[in-house]
Amino acid sequence: MPAFICDTCGAQYPDSNYEPGHCSICEDERQYIGWQGQQFTTLERLRERLRADIRRQEPGLAGIGSEPSFAIGQRALLIQNMGGNVLWDCISLLDDEIVEYVSSLGGIGTIAISHPHYYTSMVDWARAFDARICLHAADRQWVTRPDERIDLWDGDQLELEPGITLLRLGGHFAGGTVLHWAEGQEGRGALLSGDIVQVVQDRRWVSFMRSYPNLIPLSSSDVRQIVSRLEPYQFARIYGAWFGRVVAEDAKNALERSAERYLRALEEGFTGEGTNG
Ligand SMILES: [Zn+2]
Ligand SMILES: [Zn+2]
Repeated sequence: MPAFICDTCGAQYPDSNYEPGHCSICEDERQYIGWQGQQFTTLERLRERLRADIRRQEPGLAGIGSEPSFAIGQRALLIQNMGGNVLWDCISLLDDEIVEYVSSLGGIGTIAISHPHYYTSMVDWARAFDARICLHAADRQWVTRPDERIDLWDGDQLELEPGITLLRLGGHFAGGTVLHWAEGQEGRGALLSGDIVQVVQDRRWVSFMRSYPNLIPLSSSDVRQIVSRLEPYQFARIYGAWFGRVVAEDAKNALERSAERYLRALEEGFTGEGTNG
């Protein structure tokens, strides 16, 4: 029996001979139903039309996406770590090339996911690599394919491995989580942010939204909470959700500067023709 996958968000549903009638993640105001109506596919069909897109990001970090892009189009990130590799976020595709590549790097101990838009085929990934899945408990209602490998965690931080810490920032989703990797960017620290902290087109900046496709902003208190929860952590680089969406340097300042700009827009509005820097 296939586990059907939503064409628009990539979420997988429990094994069934019948397509689910709808996708709860896409019916939420943060997403949308595809313009052709709700459609589902399967991993088998995805393997026929997608291929793995694997790119080294920096020493100890690999990006894994698909070509052409599918659903929301994010790529996962694999952190190589002595105590067990960590997969950050997930994608719908899982094929032989990905399994061979990830196995050659030592497999996966833990899969941690920023928020429900990237839950995708996490259960198939966890089974393939005998991994556990760490999701924030505040988003439990969005798990579309329950499985015994899913561990729900509570609170605002969880150290997965020394120097690899999940931080629950909230915002986009109540359980919205980022990953702080202390050894990243040559020991200056990297933040793997999914779209909880969104790296934007001008990659010196980030932004924050309740919904990106529907342009629903966050409140000022949410944005302040995000900044204050990151305050104790150092990071020089932010890896957003897609290939190339990276704040390459000075990322902590970029975050703080971006939050200030956002709060100014919410509270005072923009005046004049534009700002520099
Ligand atoms: Zn969906
Ligand atoms: Zn999202």
